[in-house]
Amino acid sequence: MSRNHPDSNEDDKVETCIFCLIASERDKEAEIMKKDKELVCFKDINPAAPHHYLVVPRQHMHSCSSLNSGHISLGQLKWIMKRMAEMGKTVLRDQGVTNMKDIRLGFHQPPYISVNHLHLHVLAPTNKISEYLMYKFMPKTVAFITEESLTMHLKNKAPPVKY
Ligand code: AMP
Ligand code: ZN
Repeated sequence: MSRNHPDSNEDDKVETCIFCLIASERDKEAEIMKKDKELVCFKDINPAAPHHYLVVPRQHMHSCSSLNSGHISLGQLKWIMKRMAEMGKTVLRDQGVTNMKDIRLGFHQPPYISVNHLHLHVLAPTNKISEYLMYKFMPKTVAFITEESLTMHLKNKAPPVKY
């Protein structure tokens, strides 16, 4: 996506963003699990659980806080979140996960992100999240927000007022 695109973040180097490279399939290292026109799901390079995948939009957007930056509309963000969660759950089922209550889907919130391209963490089973990475994926912490909490938050949020 061009730097001048309304949804791009001028601060990000889209050309060198690793998740842009994976999403556009120019990076050949990533193990892609599923893809469609808008989204790509691939294995996390440093898995914290037996199943650990990342779902990213092909289009570069900074993070789940992109709404506040004004680069993406509330409706667009809600739609992307829903689709990302659906793809993550589909991949888990495809990989043989049957207990869909024992999964964790969520986002790190800035500044607790290491890659500046929106990505949903998809982990299962939760009781096998490695002990030393457990704190990173703990719901209701300042660093991590579950997909459910974010969806609820967005549902109650009115579009930003324009002055
Ligand atoms: P976060 O800390 O939420 O920004 O998570 C970024 C995630 O991306 C981490 O779990 C990394 O292990 C993962 N990651 C970074 N680079 C790659 C890569 N090239 N391929 C797959 N996963 C990656
Ligand atoms: Zn990117």
